[in-house]
Amino acid sequence: MTTSTSNLSMKLLIDTKNKKVLFAEASKDVVDFLFTLLQLPLATVIKLLTKQAAVGSLGNLYSSVENLKHIYWQPNLSKDLILNPTILINSPAISGLLPSSAAISHSKITPKLYRCSNSLGCGSSTVTSAYNSSCAMCRGRMTREANFTATAASNNDSNNNGFVKEVITYMIMDNLLIQPMSTISGITMLNQLNVKDVGVLKETVVQLGMKEGLKLLKASIESEMALTTGLRLLKASMQSKMVLTSVFLKNTKCKKVLFAEASKDVVDFLFTLLQLPLATVIKLLTKEAVVGSMGNLYSSVENLNHDYFQPKRSKDLILNPTILGSSPSISGLLPSSATNHSKITTKLYKCNYCGGTFVTDVYNSKCSTGSCSGRMTTEIYYFKGEARTVDTSGHSNNNNDNGFVKGVITYMIMDDLVIEPMSTISSITMLNRFNIKDVGVLKETVVQLGITEGLKLLKASMESQMVLTSVFLAS
Ligand SMILES: [Zn+2]
Ligand SMILES: [Zn+2]
Repeated sequence: MTTSTSNLSMKLLIDTKNKKVLFAEASKDVVDFLFTLLQLPLATVIKLLTKQAAVGSLGNLYSSVENLKHIYWQPNLSKDLILNPTILINSPAISGLLPSSAAISHSKITPKLYRCSNSLGCGSSTVTSAYNSSCAMCRGRMTREANFTATAASNNDSNNNGFVKEVITYMIMDNLLIQPMSTISGITMLNQLNVKDVGVLKETVVQLGMKEGLKLLKASIESEMALTTGLRLLKASMQSKMVLTSVFLKNTKCKKVLFAEASKDVVDFLFTLLQLPLATVIKLLTKEAVVGSMGNLYSSVENLNHDYFQPKRSKDLILNPTILGSSPSISGLLPSSATNHSKITTKLYKCNYCGGTFVTDVYNSKCSTGSCSGRMTTEIYYFKGEARTVDTSGHSNNNNDNGFVKGVITYMIMDDLVIEPMSTISSITMLNRFNIKDVGVLKETVVQLGITEGLKLLKASMESQMVLTSVFLAS
């Protein structure tokens, strides 16, 4: 691993008596970095933290996608859509704080985009990742291939990069609530933090590099004392406890789900969870219900006055990141706000001169077509179309061709979200695996899945290793 160290640092005010970080004073770059975390899809978070270190059962879900053989996937569909989701919008360069594999905008797998083929209709002002869907403006067919270039933003004025403004110093609380420093007086602050004895306070400057960046990411998901925990300044006893659902005894009549038999739709749904950016997860679960400090980070973006954001950067880039590439329509398992269905959402730009095939998210960047000297300034709109399979007979595709995995197979979902095709396991192997001697203790139940269960599954997958048990057996 490269030891690229950033020049970033922040000043911590530490309560030496209680061994706790009170707050950090930080520059815009640190705040930009923290806000960027909200854009990360769960799959990226798991990759960064490594599967073993990821909380809950999401690591198992990730492994299941890796391990499920190609024959079970829909043709022409790459696992990378799930394992390496691309976020549509360029985020500030994460300068040495996360490995470049996380660099959202520079993902190697650029998803294919399609423009409208009806040149008389909308003037090619729309773009989508769903091939052959109908244009959101003129109902033409989206079949003309376009190339997405995530050009790094021009660095001439680095002050205009990132999300928030440069001149201000920001105050980051231990639980990742962020405010501009300037608006709070020192005395108010000490009162707010309930500091009686100023003698116990100590200031330290910490350097931030990749190691610290990863620790902050992990701590922000697990702990409400993200700075204290993440920077490992203090003893292990200071780490806040992780929230785990209660574990049932594993014995006769143990109330535990062994596994679920499920159709492709359920598996598609679970795999889709990996594509969700953290900000979307927080919105779905509500800020209060999310573990760790991520909910506070989300609130900080909401509450930070518009004056502090860069002129061309809307908060929506952070709060509602758009994932490039098709995902199956989640049929009633998550509120539609999770997927932004076919609503025109994000601005992209094409060349103002050559009409080439390139599309970018960086306004005013150079055109990538050969010797063209045009600039990418003509606005077009990304919308999430309804995918249609290419079918020469003109019949509408049947449902089994949609989504990620194949339809004819039944899948087995373990309590900790390991997923395998049912067909490859014999029932005797299965009973042995669970160490079941007395078949009489087993009971089959059919459960219905709706939005309530979908949200519970999402939440449980982040917190628990007994996901199905906690969603379907908890009374
Ligand atoms: Zn059109
Ligand atoms: Zn051009």
